[in-house]
Amino acid sequence: MINGAKILSASIRWAMVGGGQGSQIGYIHRSAALRDGLFQLVAGAFDIDPARGRDFGASLGLDPERCYPDYATLFAAEAVRPDGIQAVSVATPNGTHYAICKAALEAGLHVVCEKPLCFTTQQAEELRALAARQGRIVGVTYGYAGHQLIEQAREMIAAGELGEIRIVQMQFAHGFHSEAVEAANPATKWRVDPRMAGPSYVLGDVGTHPLYLSEVMLPQLRIRRLLCTRQSFVRSRAPLEDNAFTLMEYDNGAVGQVWSSAVNAGSMHGQKIRVIGSRASLEWWDERPNQLSFEVQGQPARILERGMGYLHPAALADDRIGAGHPEGLFEAWSNLYRRYALAMDAADRGQPAPERYPDIDAGVEGVRWVEHCVRSADAGAVWVDYV
Ligand code: NAD
Repeated sequence: MINGAKILSASIRWAMVGGGQGSQIGYIHRSAALRDGLFQLVAGAFDIDPARGRDFGASLGLDPERCYPDYATLFAAEAVRPDGIQAVSVATPNGTHYAICKAALEAGLHVVCEKPLCFTTQQAEELRALAARQGRIVGVTYGYAGHQLIEQAREMIAAGELGEIRIVQMQFAHGFHSEAVEAANPATKWRVDPRMAGPSYVLGDVGTHPLYLSEVMLPQLRIRRLLCTRQSFVRSRAPLEDNAFTLMEYDNGAVGQVWSSAVNAGSMHGQKIRVIGSRASLEWWDERPNQLSFEVQGQPARILERGMGYLHPAALADDRIGAGHPEGLFEAWSNLYRRYALAMDAADRGQPAPERYPDIDAGVEGVRWVEHCVRSADAGAVWVDYV
């Protein structure tokens, strides 16, 4: 159980690029990173608008001198300080991730980057090689991967409790963009602009989240080929899709499907994963994250509750408040940032990461999956080999 004890001798000196005033995800990064005292926020380039970024950093209690106008100045100025930053989180629109991650790694920093890591597999591979050369950690924020019940599902599947895996049904399908809300919302506007969003909208924005959960739960599964169809129901979003279906065949004969959507009218979040085996199924839904449904064919369904003693030790290790009280997004992200900190500390000592976390491989895989989906969809929804 996590109780806030300081598990590193010193907090990692940390900065943010993006995540400024009014941003959607910045506060979640800070809440997660700062919760267990493993990171200390000392600097940032929080905003595309330098003055706003400086004011915002000051409002967080930072030295205004360390609230820089842009990431290049941040990395250069901090590099010459004896107490300069050791790690940076990148929470800017997608089109900037590649350049900022590259610059951060070149500056010798550990990086936590928002998904998608970049736009092409080639760029992602470049970042992976650079991180390896520099001996630096890259974490990617597939946030709910830090939830304990994802660990529970992984352990149950590994123990064969579902039987032979046949079907993986995934979705992240919300309804918030059922209309052209981007006309009045800057945080949505860039998401439907290929220059900033990249080759896809919902595939990269939401679909990669349950895809990564499937990678955690089913580490042996390899995609053999996939077929994707994508639509722009709000016509002005074309060529970027606001809805997509991806069918996948795995190399062990199992099949999978991912529904990625921002036009599932009425749905609040709709991120779900159901793993179906020859004997039983498991289902997890991010709107009810504290329950994992375990359904054995021919028996009443069982609801496994987070924090209960009957769970696997791996699913209890990250517990923070015990069973009954709900944990969710903030705790899952805090668990990830805890693992990022442990990995960064270990890398600094030349040691391997002690715990699994969504790493550069997860980032590469997300980019590769989106690239294949787009290739399939744009060729008329055809099967493409997954290479
Ligand atoms: P947003 O538009 O709400 O906020 C972006 C922030 O970055 C703003 O503060 C903006 O001023 C700043 N910014 C933009 N360009 C910058 C630059 N060059 N240098 C410094 N700051 C800059 O966007 P958001 O919704 O917070 O999304 C940011 C990233 O987080 C995206 O890549 C998105 O895909 C990702 N995201 C991830 C999750 C998740 O669950 N992991 C959830 C939401 C968003």
